[in-house]
Amino acid sequence: MNGRRSNIVSQRQEPAAGVLYVVGTPIGHLGDLSPRARSVLAKVSAIACEDTRHSGQILNSLGAQGHRFSFHQHNTQSRLPQLLELLNTGQSLAVISDAGLPGISDPGEELVAAARKAGHEVICIPGPCAAITALVSSGLPCNRFCFEGFLPTKGKERRQQLVAIASETRTTILYEAPHRLVKLLKELAQLCGDKRPLQVARELTKRHEQQIGPTIATALQHFIEQKPLGECTLVLGGAPIAVPAKQSDAHWIAELEALIAGGISASDAARQLAQKSGLSKRTLYALLHQSAEEESQ
Ligand code: SAM
Repeated sequence: MNGRRSNIVSQRQEPAAGVLYVVGTPIGHLGDLSPRARSVLAKVSAIACEDTRHSGQILNSLGAQGHRFSFHQHNTQSRLPQLLELLNTGQSLAVISDAGLPGISDPGEELVAAARKAGHEVICIPGPCAAITALVSSGLPCNRFCFEGFLPTKGKERRQQLVAIASETRTTILYEAPHRLVKLLKELAQLCGDKRPLQVARELTKRHEQQIGPTIATALQHFIEQKPLGECTLVLGGAPIAVPAKQSDAHWIAELEALIAGGISASDAARQLAQKSGLSKRTLYALLHQSAEEESQ
């Protein structure tokens, strides 16, 4: 039965008219472009590329004839109607990014949403994704994980996301540019403690592929000594699940004050300690408030 079903699927004509194909492309090793991806890209009527020049080499090597459109964060809104019109007129369309899966920290999401909204079929031709490749090779739990992509580069929003990540109990995957990696590792060390498990996957699928871990401290030390180069994905172990510990109010106040003295806001300190203590953020915040009032009397 299973065999029959898989034959039926493989006999479907691809690419089909009016279908949007979301195609995964290599994140380094060109051998990772699947035969199905090759075939669809070679035959599809049009291809929306994050960068037509970047993808030109791979598409030319496949003999892809489809018209190539640039489709990136700066022309998404102006390009969408044109791409939808192609689908409306029965053309097949593929979307690819520079590397990996479109839509994952790359253009693609808006096109998929718009195509679905307009009633078009959307089919993903799966391929490499740095986040998942890094996760499954990290040795960290894969059964529950979350993906944060790139954090905001600075400001309150970055701080808030980092504080939330520090208390996240699932494995967290992050993307980061090499020139910002040491800064991110320092922030994670401050908020998670430097013994937290972490693997940095560098240059996945490429000649100089490397894994650096097994903790924030070891990764930080490594990249302080060796300037980060190439592409990096971080896989951070989850925070230990809190077993509410019986401690006095004075103890929790002292911990909160220590966190604040380390440079984070009262609200962030309460959020972070809530995970460890099993107390609610509101309770911890109230303790802090109460202590400040007592001191001022
Ligand atoms: N859509 C892509 C995907 O599916 O993986 C991600 C694109 S995002 C703009 C680029 C980021 O992904 C890089 O800054 C890096 O964090 C990560 N990345 C991409 N290729 C990688 C590789 N070969 N090794 C490690 N990380 C990689």
